[in-house]
Amino acid sequence: MKDTFDVIIIGGGHNGQILSGYLTKAGLETLVLERRMEPGGGLCTEEVTIPGFYHNIHAFFLRWVPDLPFYKDLELARFGIQMKMPEVQTVAPFSDGRCLVMYQDEEKTIKNIAYFSKKDAATYRDLLKRFKEMSVKIITPEGYAPPLPAAEKKTLLEKSPLGREYLEISKKTPIELARGYFATEQMRSMIIFMVTTRMYLADEPGLGYHMVAATVGGLSGTMCLGGSHYLAHGLSKVIEAHGGRIWEVSPVREIIIEGGKAKGVILDDGRRFYARKCIASSVDIPQTFINLVGKDKLSRDVAEKAGQFKFAKLVLFSAHLALNEPLKYTSAKFNLDIDSGFNYNVGLESISDFEAHVREINEGVPPKKPGMQCAVPTLHDPTQAPPGKHTAFLWQFAPFNLKDGGPEAWDKVKNEYMEVCLERWRQYAPNCNSKNIIAKYAFSPLDVERKLINMKGGDHCVGAATFDQMLENRPFPGLAPYRTPIEGLYLCGSGSHPFGNCTGAPGYNAAGVICEDLNIPKWWSTHDLRELWSKLR
Ligand SMILES: Cc1cc2nc3c(=O)[nH]c(=O)nc-3n(C[C@H](O)[C@H](O)[C@H](O)COP(=O)(O)OP(=O)(O)OC[C@H]3O[C@@H](n4cnc5c(N)ncnc54)[C@H](O)[C@@H]3O)c2cc1C
Repeated sequence: MKDTFDVIIIGGGHNGQILSGYLTKAGLETLVLERRMEPGGGLCTEEVTIPGFYHNIHAFFLRWVPDLPFYKDLELARFGIQMKMPEVQTVAPFSDGRCLVMYQDEEKTIKNIAYFSKKDAATYRDLLKRFKEMSVKIITPEGYAPPLPAAEKKTLLEKSPLGREYLEISKKTPIELARGYFATEQMRSMIIFMVTTRMYLADEPGLGYHMVAATVGGLSGTMCLGGSHYLAHGLSKVIEAHGGRIWEVSPVREIIIEGGKAKGVILDDGRRFYARKCIASSVDIPQTFINLVGKDKLSRDVAEKAGQFKFAKLVLFSAHLALNEPLKYTSAKFNLDIDSGFNYNVGLESISDFEAHVREINEGVPPKKPGMQCAVPTLHDPTQAPPGKHTAFLWQFAPFNLKDGGPEAWDKVKNEYMEVCLERWRQYAPNCNSKNIIAKYAFSPLDVERKLINMKGGDHCVGAATFDQMLENRPFPGLAPYRTPIEGLYLCGSGSHPFGNCTGAPGYNAAGVICEDLNIPKWWSTHDLRELWSKLR
C-alpha cells in the first residue's frame, strides 16, 4: 500500500475535505484520513428512526453556501450538489396565537414585523441596509482571510463611517444591541434566537458584530437537497476527480515529529503514513496538540494554552421524528405561512426566556421550559422521507455535564427529556402528538461527542466563541493563523479562525496559507483585507 503523500489531512469533515480539494487542484498529492466510516463530520444524514427516513443529525441549516468561495471554486454544482433557499425563512409562533414570519423577500418580512410594531419594522429596514453592507464589506471578507492583528484592524476600520459603526457595534453584546434596537420582545427574542443558534454568545462583550451577521443571515438560509451528507459526498467527489484520496475508518493516533518537523502520522492500528510537504489537522485543538503531537514536543506555553482551550457550555440536545404529516401550528390562523417555514423558533418568546436557559444550563440542569430550534426538512425536500411522510427535528440548548450524574446520566434521562421538549412543541403545534409521530430518536450532547470526538463536551462548533478565543486569538494568542510551532504542521478546522459551523472558511483559509508557505501559486482568486478595508467609505 502506498504510504507517502505530499499532504496528509487529519479528519474528513467539510473543512478537511475543502482543504484537500484546494490542494489537490493545486497539483499536490493529498490523503485525507477520517476516523469514522464516512467522511463529512457534521455534514451527516442517517436513518436513525426508520429506514427510508433520512435525518440530518448534525448540520442542517447551511448559510449562504451557494455564494461561498469553496462552493464556486470547487464547482460543487457540477458534481451534483443542489442547494435550496426556502421562501419562508425564519419563523416564530407565539403563545398569544400570533406568529412572526420572516421571508427571503425583505419587504414581506418588514410587513410582518409591522404587525407587531411599526417602529421595529422601520428599525429593521434601516438595520438590514446598514448590516448588509457591513456584512459584505467587513464581516464576510474577514471570515475568508487570515485575521489581521486587532490594532491594525482598528486603525484601518476607524478611517470610514462604516468601519467606525462596526467597531462601535462590536463593543456591545448581542443582547444589549437587541434590547437597544427593538421595542418588542418578539423581535428581540427572534434576533437572539438567530445569534445563539449559530453558537455565537449573546452576552459576550466585544462580539456585537455577530448580531449583524445573524440578522442578515436570518433571511438567506439554505439546505442541501438529498440531505446534508450529500454536500459531504460532493466534496469527496471533487477530491477524487482530481486525484486526491480519502480513507475512512482511519483514526490518527499520533503525529510523527522528527527534528522538530511533522513527518507523518500513525493510525490506531499502527499503520504509518508519511507526508513530503506537510500535515494539516482539522480536529480539535487539545486533541491535535496534546494527544497527537504530545506535550513533550511542545513548549510549556503552547502545551498550557492548548490544554486550556475552551469549549462551549451551551450545547445541543436533539430529537428526530418520523411523521405521518407535517406539523400544523395554532398560529397559522394569524399567518398560514408559518406552516411552511424553514427555521423555527419554538418557545423562545423573550430574552428573559433565554437568560433562564443560561442560568439552568450553568447549574447543570436541562431547561424545564424549552425554547427550541426546529425544522421539518421534508417540507422543502420530499426525498428525505418515504412518499407522503415527513421528518422533523428539534434542537434545545442543554448542559453537557448534568448536575445529577454528570455527562453519562444523559443515557438515562434523554428519552424523558425528549418528552419535555415534545410537550413544549405541542403547545404551539398540536399535531406533534403520538398519532402523528411514527418513531422518535433522542440524541444527547454526550452522543454528539461520542460520534464526533472533536466536538468535546458536545460543542459542535469545536471551541467556544468567547472574545478571547476569536479572530486573531483563535485558537490561542501567539500562533500565526493556521500555522503551529511545529514546522510542517498546520491547522484547518473549526478551532481556527473564524469559527465552527459549515462555512468551510478554516479549510479555505488554511489552503491559502499552505500554498504561500510551499510557494505554490493559488489557482483561485483571493482578496486582501488591508486593500479592501482601506478603500471603505
Ligand atoms: C446537533 C448539531 C447541529 C448542528 N447544526 C448545524 C447547522 O444547522 N449549520 C451549521 O453550519 N452547522 C451546524 N452544526 C455544526 C457543524 O456540524 C460543525 O461546526 C462542523 O461540522 C465543523 O466542521 P469541521 O470540518 O471543522 O469538523 P467536523 O465536521 O467535526 O469534522 C472533523 C472530522 O474529523 C474526524 N476526526 C476526529 N478525530 C480524528 C482522528 N483522530 N483521526 C481521524 N479523524 C478524526 C471526525 O470524525 C470528523 O469527521 C451542528 C452540529 C451539531 C452537533
